[in-house]
Order: sequence, then C-alpha cells, then structure tokens
Amino acid sequence: MLGVYVHVPFCASRCSYCDFATAPFEEGAASRYFKALSQELDAAALMVDKVRADTLYLGGGTPTALGPERLRNVLTEVTGRFAVAAEAEVTCEANPESLTAYILDALSEGGVNRLSLGIQTFDDATLKILGRRHDATQAEDAYWHAQAEGFDNVSIDLMYGLPGQSLDGWTRDLARGLALKPEHVSLYGLTLEPDVKLYRERAAYEFPDDDEQAAMYYAAIDKLAAAGFAQYETSNFARPGRECRHNLKYWRDEEYLGFGPSAANHWRGGRYRNPPDLDEYCAAAATGRWPLVNPEPSDAYREMRTAAVLGLRLTEGVDAAAFEERFGVNPKTYYEKELAEFVATGLVTVDGESVRLTRPGLFLADEVFAALI
Ligand code: SF4
Repeated sequence: MLGVYVHVPFCASRCSYCDFATAPFEEGAASRYFKALSQELDAAALMVDKVRADTLYLGGGTPTALGPERLRNVLTEVTGRFAVAAEAEVTCEANPESLTAYILDALSEGGVNRLSLGIQTFDDATLKILGRRHDATQAEDAYWHAQAEGFDNVSIDLMYGLPGQSLDGWTRDLARGLALKPEHVSLYGLTLEPDVKLYRERAAYEFPDDDEQAAMYYAAIDKLAAAGFAQYETSNFARPGRECRHNLKYWRDEEYLGFGPSAANHWRGGRYRNPPDLDEYCAAAATGRWPLVNPEPSDAYREMRTAAVLGLRLTEGVDAAAFEERFGVNPKTYYEKELAEFVATGLVTVDGESVRLTRPGLFLADEVFAALI
C-alpha cells in the first residue's frame, strides 16, 4: 500500500533557523493553496485509482496553523479521493502553541492517530532565539492535553547543537522530554543554511563544537535506550512497534505520493518533486495534469545508489541479498573499495549479509552517504 504526504506550506511565523518551504499564514495564499491542492488531488486520483494508502502524513510548515476547519478540509480532501485503510497510521505535525482543544477535535474527527510535536528544547531563552512561539510549559501542557484527548501515539522533536547549549543542558532537555513518556523521539542537530536569520546572527552566540555535538548525540542514544527506545534510524527512536510507518516507506525506498508545494513522489519507478514556490505550484496544479512536473532524471545506477544510502539510514542497514535481488549486484562487491575504507575508519560494519552504520557512523552518516550516492 502507498504512503500519502500532504505539505501545508504555512506557519504562524518563520523560525530563525528554518529554510523549509513555508510562509506566514495569510488568507489569500491559503485559498490559492486549497484550490491547487484540490486540483492536484483530483488529477492524481484519476491516475492512481483503486490504490489504497496505509499511511497519511500531514507535514509542513505547521498543519495545525491552518485552524480546525481548514484542517478538517485537508483531511477530507485526501480521504475523499484515496482509500485510506482503516488501520492506517495518520500523522499530523503540530507546534505546541497551536494544539488547541478545537484543533485536537478536528484531528481526532479526521482520523489522525499520531502526532509529531515540535518541542525542540525546554530552555525558554533558547526557544526565543530560535523564534519559536511556545515556551517549555506550553510544550508540556500541549503534550498532556493531547494525551488527555486520547492521542496515545505522540512523537516529540528535540534539537541539539543549539546556541548556548551545553551537554548538561541537553541532558536536562532529554530528561524533561522523556518524563512526558512519548512513544517516539526524533532528534535534530542544528544546521544553518546561509539564508536563514540565525545564520546571519550567528556571531552573537556560542554554538557547541563538533565534539560536543557528538557527545550530545551519543548521550541521547544511551539515555533513550535506557528508557526503552530503540534507535531505528540515524535520528529516530521508538518504543517497540511505534516506529513511524510513513517515514519507513521513504527509507525503505517504497512508493509514496506527495501533494502540496515541494512535496515529493516516488511512484511507478519515477521520482517527482513539486515546485516549492506557491505560485509555481498553483500554476502547475491548474494545468490538471499529474504528476505536476516531469520525473527527476534517473537511471538504474542512480536508483541503486539512492536505495543504498536510504537503507543505510536505518539501523537494520542494507540487506545484501535483498539488494542483490532487486538490483542484480551485491552491495558488498559494488562498494568494495568504499566499504573497506569506512570499515577501517570504524564508520561502517559489514555483518554477515547486512551493511550497517556503526555508532560513530550514525553520527557521521552524511560523510558516508556523500561517498556512496
Ligand atoms: S514551525 Fe517548523 S516549518 Fe515552521 S518556520 Fe518553524 S521550523 Fe520552519
């Protein structure tokens, strides 16, 4: 079955470190977005008739910034066109300050059964620097409120490498996050693109260096493991059975459909990415064709390397036999030179039939991926 992603390109305001395809919420832009989303879903429904989805993911942006009525509409737009299985995982990203009783009702009525809550840190001063609109108390209140309303599958996002953050401060964030007893935790190391506000202001702050960030990452792995979480991806940890089924489809290189500006599709062997700009997206959707854009250039060689890198993100690693069956080549042979180098430097382990990142390899995954892609 397919995974379906819907990108909501609006936030209440832009965080200082964010370079995602999102803009401050505004009525006119929201109306144009809804019209285009509806057109895109109509066009796709004609092409993928009878296909059932077993995961649906509303991401952004901040889907909950739409308010309850629009949020209901988005969910109805998707479920009205695609058969979403009764047992589907339906996730919505949310920011703490936007998780009102009305929003929680709309999510519940719309079939959302998993929340991904953007907490980031419990340090109020740092939240201000990041341009977040909530404080630590609001984050905890939002979590308890969601739980009281029956949401029993909640993931929290936490960030390390933040301005002024120490290992002690990070340890306190982890302890406060774990005290909520979430089902899933996603960790993000701060990276700043040159076009974001915090990059321009970076001289005003002291950031943890690479060694300190590595210590934070390893401390998180250990504390999460002690609390009953298994690491299943470079940045993701779950209690047994609570892995994000939608994101697993990406990493296992399965098929998925994406709607909205910047959303990606992997469908019938092709990869497509919608224009990130709202006006360009609306113009493409108005043509009534789907996919909205031509497939990204690819070939068997590129598909194979993409699958290798995606698979290595998972702690289960790449199964050499399954890889060979799919691509006709054993990854241990194909990447012999690169793997020998990474095994020697301790970033990769070749264990029987699987190729996996080691603990240092998980932290330095981008270095490995750059050589293998
Ligand atoms: S809430 Fe998320 S998507 Fe929106 S501006 Fe902040 S980091 Fe970016």
